Amino acid sequence: MIVTRFAPSPNGPLHLGHAFSAIVAQDLAREWGGRFLLRIEDIDGSRSRPELAADFRADLAWLGLEWEEVAAQSGRLASYRAAAERLKADGLLYPCNCTRAQIAAAANGTGPDGPVYPGTCRASGISEAASGEVAWRLDMAAAVRRAGPLEWIDERAGPQRATPEIFGDVVLLRKEAPASYHLAATLDDAADGVTLVTRGRDLFAATHVHRLLQALLGLPVPTWHHHPLLLDESGAKLAKRRDSGALGFGLAERRLAGGDGRALADALRRHALPAGISLGEGLDR
Ligand code: GLU
Repeated sequence: MIVTRFAPSPNGPLHLGHAFSAIVAQDLAREWGGRFLLRIEDIDGSRSRPELAADFRADLAWLGLEWEEVAAQSGRLASYRAAAERLKADGLLYPCNCTRAQIAAAANGTGPDGPVYPGTCRASGISEAASGEVAWRLDMAAAVRRAGPLEWIDERAGPQRATPEIFGDVVLLRKEAPASYHLAATLDDAADGVTLVTRGRDLFAATHVHRLLQALLGLPVPTWHHHPLLLDESGAKLAKRRDSGALGFGLAERRLAGGDGRALADALRRHALPAGISLGEGLDR
């Protein structure tokens, strides 16, 4: 059975781009008589605003969507820790106490998540006890050697050779949050039985890392569907903080103003978009 999901982070209000994403995920599941899940990705306690989850549910219901809600990330911390312990025992993680500024200054080029970490703490071998607050990074070269060549399939773009090395040594346990997006989302999709990971084209590259983590942790391998993004006039994807409020693309404000959510959902299905908005693959990745 096909299982898709919509996995918003409650760090800002949803906008039309999220509506499109949730509709694509629900409709793909429906088409095949499958299940559509909602998962609140509230892993980052410092940025999460718990009250937004209730707005998200109201927005989705207003659009006429139906979903099953699974556990939010804040309730799954033990599973993230357990997976990280396994990778540590395999010798694939190392502690890092570099600051953002140090990383930016020494970066080895730029990857999909920003500056590529130059491996300073891998080389110097800081000890966890001596270093205070640390992040744990994946030793990418060792991980790629361990996993061997990997492929994954995007329903729209076709088969892909996994190239997680473009990210360098990604952080899996963050200093300020219990786990990184990459680790948490990969584990959650497996735990939730997601068979078709549906999300925006902006997260296409992240799938290289997720495919690697699946191989290292012995997780099932889903198929992916990276849908096109709603772009503004400059070709940039809509952003929560900027576009939900000022530009009138926010779902909650349209709902509270008495707009017709089902009509909006149908317009998005037909790719009938408001003036100034287009559908595209995005410029940033
Ligand atoms: N929580 C992520 C976001 O809101 C989406 C993650 C995913 O779909 O894998 O951008």
